[in-house]
Amino acid sequence: MFNRKRNSVPSSLRTREAGEAIHRARRLATDGSLRCARDDGFFRIFTRRSLIRLLTATAVLAGTNLLQPPLLAADPPMDVVASFSILGDMVRTVGGDRVRVTTLVGPDADAHVFEPTPADVRAIAASRVVFVNGLGFEAGWMPRLAEAAGFKGTVVVVSEGIRPLTMEEEEEEEHGHGGAHHAETPHDADDPHAWQNLANGKIYAQNIASALAAADPGGAAVYRRNADAYIEEMTALDAQVRAQIAAIPVARRKIVTSHDAFQYFGQAYGLQLLAPEGVSTEAEASAADVARLIRQIRSEKITAVFVENLSDNRLLDRIAKETGARIGGTVYSDSLSPEGGPAPTYLAMFRHNMAEFTRALAGS
Ligand SMILES: [Zn+2]
Repeated sequence: MFNRKRNSVPSSLRTREAGEAIHRARRLATDGSLRCARDDGFFRIFTRRSLIRLLTATAVLAGTNLLQPPLLAADPPMDVVASFSILGDMVRTVGGDRVRVTTLVGPDADAHVFEPTPADVRAIAASRVVFVNGLGFEAGWMPRLAEAAGFKGTVVVVSEGIRPLTMEEEEEEEHGHGGAHHAETPHDADDPHAWQNLANGKIYAQNIASALAAADPGGAAVYRRNADAYIEEMTALDAQVRAQIAAIPVARRKIVTSHDAFQYFGQAYGLQLLAPEGVSTEAEASAADVARLIRQIRSEKITAVFVENLSDNRLLDRIAKETGARIGGTVYSDSLSPEGGPAPTYLAMFRHNMAEFTRALAGS
């Protein structure tokens, strides 16, 4: 505690007096003794209180109070937690320098089946706001984790206000012959992957800005400005995605991925999405699901399947071999790539996925 205060003294304030007092205090703090160095006739015996008085008096002379944080320093950033990497990037973008974001489920990791660690408990306990996607995405582990941390702050569900797709709707849209959903998923369950539609991404950004402003009113204008700029970028990217899809022949606008994470994408941008696994990676695809998907890939002449950065891709490899479809590339569904990879941010992920889809589908 003492050292922290000492370190908060700006170097410009280390006048001779302050420097000497600090030097003495350090020696006391280091050897744990209250007896001052013998060669100093004046400060023979200290009590902790007199030491503090001394430091305060000296600092006041030097123009500041050592026991208070320096007035000119910026406020420390607000600690917040985001449940997974895509959301972590969005919170960082809206929060800027005013927030310090800890992401629980990191790059290339799977939030559907996450096992929290004691470090995650500590991160939640130390945070003011916890951002989750909602729609059941973190339901298997976040409630337990927040309870273990004794978290009393705000949990913000960033998907609040979007129109959720449910399994049932998705099956209807596929005219009953699509997406092989495993039996364990209830039919009216929400599909959590709403971020795969940029229109929803804008709602996420707005929700993040409002929540940050509520927790840190002094930053409200900054959060608003950052969110507005971010939303503008999403609008521009949305138009690009539509233009790229328009260039793909209609009959080829069909995509197979390992788990059913792109229904929002497909619905927004006019692609048909198929997957051997359901909206969660938790359960394996049944043999019947896989057989149905293989028949469909053949009958609809689907030429490319896409592996995901987070899934075990052996099943998709097998499907590709059996159907003659190519592996079209790696796409990012539920988590970003590490820094330096092809999809280190939400917007980069969108651009990368679109580039992979068009490269594989637009061909003659
Ligand atoms: Zn998923």
